[in-house]
Amino acid sequence: MGGMARRYEVIVVGAGPAGSAAAALFAEQGRRVLVLDKARFPRPKPCAEYISPGGVNILDRLGALERIERTGQRRWLRGMQVRSPSGACHLVQYLDTQNRQSRGLSVSRLVLDLALVESAQAQGAEIRQGVRACGVWKQDGRVRGVVLSQAGERLEADLVVGADGLHSAVAHSLGLHYRPLWPRRLGLIAHFAGVTWPEDYGQMLLGQRGYVGAAPLDDDGLLTIGLVRRMPGGRLGSPAAALEVGLADHPDLARRLSRGRNLGGVMGIGPLACGAQKVAGPGFALLGDAAGFFDPFTGEGIFRALRGAELLAAHLETYARARQRTFGPKQRLVALIQIMVQTPRLMDFAIDRLRTRATVAKELGNVLGDLQPARLDLIWRLIGP
Ligand SMILES: Cc1cc2nc3c(=O)[nH]c(=O)nc-3n(C[C@H](O)[C@H](O)[C@H](O)COP(=O)(O)OP(=O)(O)OC[C@H]3O[C@@H](n4cnc5c(N)ncnc54)[C@H](O)[C@@H]3O)c2cc1C
Repeated sequence: MGGMARRYEVIVVGAGPAGSAAAALFAEQGRRVLVLDKARFPRPKPCAEYISPGGVNILDRLGALERIERTGQRRWLRGMQVRSPSGACHLVQYLDTQNRQSRGLSVSRLVLDLALVESAQAQGAEIRQGVRACGVWKQDGRVRGVVLSQAGERLEADLVVGADGLHSAVAHSLGLHYRPLWPRRLGLIAHFAGVTWPEDYGQMLLGQRGYVGAAPLDDDGLLTIGLVRRMPGGRLGSPAAALEVGLADHPDLARRLSRGRNLGGVMGIGPLACGAQKVAGPGFALLGDAAGFFDPFTGEGIFRALRGAELLAAHLETYARARQRTFGPKQRLVALIQIMVQTPRLMDFAIDRLRTRATVAKELGNVLGDLQPARLDLIWRLIGP
């Protein structure tokens, strides 16, 4: 073990959207905050890179939206077109009570995460990059700080925030991390250049083996492709080969991509779903994917990371309950939507219903856009008589 621990009020492990947002908010409260990340920013992250309007509102509150806008490397989108295997389509979009449009944002994680790190720094948080945490250390049943991989150095904090993603070292070291049996899927991400995308929406194309999301990242033909499919035999396999097989289910998109060029380096990650037995306890809190992740189809990962940070900073003592209240209803709705995603005939039926049930379609869009809370009876109003 290393020598004397260095002391902070808050140590955040992970400077992704969850960690940087939490660091910015705690630092804004005047706390002494340290953020550690094993990577150096800008760094890539496997993600389809689409942020719901609810997430965009939080980026605005954090001052990160302005930073992103200054780069010009982003694309505002009206929504996502969902297409079932039979070709039935529905455009998920976001309309307020006066039918005014809210927009989602498609932005590279290189740009997004750097903007958030800068927001945290601007609020006074100290950021240490290229530093890996291997877990927490405890005394008298309370988490007291973080142990670094290098030479087992110990840092001390009143609160350790585990915002270190799907394979959270903090959650692992506390014995809280688990893998649900369902769904067991892998995600693949590729970037293409030179693909014209005049549509002001992205696409989610459902196939027999999974689904593919496509969205433009700028006005110059940069496109992100996210493919999610069942884990083959529980193993990841070759990401490039799996991408090729997955795209074969979507010849229209494959043709469109063939006019551009793959920028190389298909990123793969799986299994995607993970959970945490609890998200807070004496001296620690888990945030973002470290607190649990389900599936990217409904695209709320970044929103949950950012909103979770707001909940933690505002309700430190009652964080777990605040999360449950805020995320619970949508989580249940998203699980029902996942059943539809796996049942093409049910998806066709639901898309058909959305054509004639405008009020339900509008509510669904706003719930998926994280602009209004979810109500479970929404699904019944969609598929019921
Ligand atoms: C295929 C795929 C597509 C997705 N598409 C979307 C989408 O379109 N929209 C959306 O909203 N969400 C999407 N998501 C989900 C989204 O990417 C995550 O929910 C989001 O990144 C969570 O943010 P986070 O800050 O919790 O974790 P991350 O963004 O993963 O950040 C964690 C950080 O912790 C650091 N770290 C990890 N371990 C350590 C350690 N031991 N020590 C120090 N640092 C460490 C990492 O370097 C990283 O910077 C997608 C996910 C996948 C897998």
